Amino acid sequence: MELQSQVESNAASAAPEDVHVAKVGAEESLPVVPVVRTTKNFYDYTLPELEEILAGLGKEKFRAQQVFKWVYEKRVENFEEMSNVSKAFRAELPNIFHFDLPKVVAELKSKDGTRKWLFDIGDGMTIETVLIPNKERLTLCVSSEVGCNIACRFCFTGKQKLKRRLSAGQIVGQFLHAQDSLSKEDMRITNIVFMGMGEPLDNPDAVFRSIEILHQPNGINLSRKKITVSTSGLVPLMPLIAKAKVRLAVSLNAPNNEIRSFVMPINKKWDVHSLLGACLDYYKETGDRITFEYVLLKNVTDRLEQAKELWDMLKQAGLHNACKVNLIPFNEHPGSGFERPEPASVIAFQNELIRLGAHVLLRKTMGRDIFAACGQLTSKYEGRPERMTV
Ligand code: SF4
Repeated sequence: MELQSQVESNAASAAPEDVHVAKVGAEESLPVVPVVRTTKNFYDYTLPELEEILAGLGKEKFRAQQVFKWVYEKRVENFEEMSNVSKAFRAELPNIFHFDLPKVVAELKSKDGTRKWLFDIGDGMTIETVLIPNKERLTLCVSSEVGCNIACRFCFTGKQKLKRRLSAGQIVGQFLHAQDSLSKEDMRITNIVFMGMGEPLDNPDAVFRSIEILHQPNGINLSRKKITVSTSGLVPLMPLIAKAKVRLAVSLNAPNNEIRSFVMPINKKWDVHSLLGACLDYYKETGDRITFEYVLLKNVTDRLEQAKELWDMLKQAGLHNACKVNLIPFNEHPGSGFERPEPASVIAFQNELIRLGAHVLLRKTMGRDIFAACGQLTSKYEGRPERMTV
């Protein structure tokens, strides 16, 4: 599907009303009757949307704020418990809203502190969410789609074709479940990155709606500067990231057009020059540094001269002082056709970029014991042939 029509179909299906399938009777053989739920999933709506819905019923704005606070601050899902809401209004609310979050299938903890959640979003589909601890930060990496059509060659999720775009509630739900679990240990998520399964800009309506919910001061209250959207380079939609005032990360992964088109076929549609042009626009509008993710693939993107080529490319684009480069040694998986570089090449590549003046971070591989690379746990759970072995 063309991008524009994808966006339009996303917009048209925003915050859909749920269709649930209920079994009649206990016997497996009895017919399955679809039950159409006429109420809305509360988690799909931003506060201004909630205010609008309730205004249509003659309710004041502060009513919406009250309910929003109960749900996101106090994590109450039963309208009856919302004690500062009038009894009559409490009785009306279940006719308008229900609460539906992804279900936790598994929560895994790595020896290195990384955690991973596997969620069931219905119809046998699963998504993954990873928590990455780093010094004082706890960064939650959320998924925006089941599978992904961008098909980056080095990516495990890219081998799993797009099956579904998540709703805003399914994205927010990843945060809520993770935070509920961490709260038991007095831990708070400090940052969110849209870097899990899926290309966030292929699901813009739900992604930016979820950002509004996560940021809302009457609820979760996460600063926009603590939220990062990572894109493979859907150039026409990149201005949405600046508009949402959140951070931009770009999955760059190559020092020139030719190699980028090989490792990331999307580059054939929007080449690296138009991508870097969009990055410059972002920087001019926000003044925020951009993170360039660069996966080091043995003998493909890890050669020393490619560090210089990368730096020259960023310089030419006017971005060398406006970015940092995250180096990610490739996380090997069966069937990828790529290899992880030797540690010495990784260090040499990093040192060369530092020598040239770049702000470089070398990302440690974490959570290998819990299949933390995106898409791996889903594959294991669903029993696909490319499942990983520890
Ligand atoms: S790296 Fe991201 S955009 Fe590329 S295939 Fe994987 S999930 Fe999709």
